[in-house]
Amino acid sequence: MSKKYNPYEQVIKTIDDTAKVMGLKESQYVTLKHAERELTVSLPVKMDDGTVKVFKGYRVQHSALKGPCKGGIRYHQSVEIEEVKALAAWMTFKCAVVNIPYGGAKGGIEVDPSELSRDELERLTRRYTASILPLIGPEKDIPAPDINTNAMVMGWIMDQYSMFAGYPVPGVVTGKPIDIGGSLGRSGATGRGVMFMTREIMHRVGKPITGASVAIQGFGKVGATAAIALQKQGAKIVAISDVSTGLYNEQGLDVIKLKEFTESGEKAKLFKDYKDGAKAISNEELLTLDVDILIPAATENQITEKIAANVKASVIVEGANGPTSIEADKILTQNGVTIVPDILANAGGVIVSYFEWVQNIQSLMWDIEEINRAQEKIMIRAFNSVWDTAQEKDVTLRTGAYIVAIDKLVRAREIRGQMM
Ligand code: GLU
Repeated sequence: MSKKYNPYEQVIKTIDDTAKVMGLKESQYVTLKHAERELTVSLPVKMDDGTVKVFKGYRVQHSALKGPCKGGIRYHQSVEIEEVKALAAWMTFKCAVVNIPYGGAKGGIEVDPSELSRDELERLTRRYTASILPLIGPEKDIPAPDINTNAMVMGWIMDQYSMFAGYPVPGVVTGKPIDIGGSLGRSGATGRGVMFMTREIMHRVGKPITGASVAIQGFGKVGATAAIALQKQGAKIVAISDVSTGLYNEQGLDVIKLKEFTESGEKAKLFKDYKDGAKAISNEELLTLDVDILIPAATENQITEKIAANVKASVIVEGANGPTSIEADKILTQNGVTIVPDILANAGGVIVSYFEWVQNIQSLMWDIEEINRAQEKIMIRAFNSVWDTAQEKDVTLRTGAYIVAIDKLVRAREIRGQMM
């Protein structure tokens, strides 16, 4: 039987492989292989029926080399420490590659939030905030949304933290509701960024985006926004999936209608109930469809070795964190697939988080045009530096992105001086 997938081992291998290409000495980058702080907490929550349940939560700060730690909080039944560590490390590299002044962190709770009432979810969030309180703060570590967390959850975290501080501290989290200091443009920022990166890569490989067929895995904050933004650019979204099933329509899916459908009703409707000329397909079928562009926008380790051998798309833009395993990446590269790596492709969210934090600290409000313009500018600049590095060193865009990031981090380590 093959070894169980461990995302943090994948991170370490990526760091080592990149350092080799860069010709670094182990002592120059060894700290990057270790998270600076890891906190595990037990979270007792009174359930609506009067019983008490104890959940497990985490906050990992991978690196504060280039600034305060930054990264989302995930609520999912599969959250565990190795995953949180990997996600925290990816945040460090993501912030470095797009050159925003943050280190990387991530948090999570092992919970299926769909099984909790709104009140239970609020109690869990407040308890978690209180438990990680010594670690977080606007100058230390700033959480944000990730899978299954949203502006409402960020609002509770902000409130709980402010209760302890004794005054409002909007800058402790990003992705908050606009009314309490959230930023315009934050909720759709990751998906919009995926569109920018898709547009740039299509331009570089000399293929038109108009009429290009696209398959997207995931229809959450990232997948849905990317789908709508790409459709506006003239692309044809032929397949999309959510947790229940995949949908395929060769003529193209009406993604705006699909979004309205999933938002209608009490509980989010599942794709299973959607008709409108679409045919149901499996996850594997979606990932191996004969399309121009594939966008994994769900979770880690979706494009495995087995899937990679059958991928027919010539361009992959990684909306999710860590969707492609290292082994799969090799196969895709051999098969000539161009991949815009996660740490670049999905950086739009943390970039607009950075704008939100800056607005909070300065008590300023930017308009949406300013935010969109600044996000696009940062992302295109990062894309070009990754592209140029990859060309110059004759490596993949993923290795190019890691070279750009690790180079900045190693430089910061050297400037900050000797280790004790
Ligand atoms: N969770 C998002 C990510 O993985 C956003 C993090 C942030 O805005 O801090 O990039």
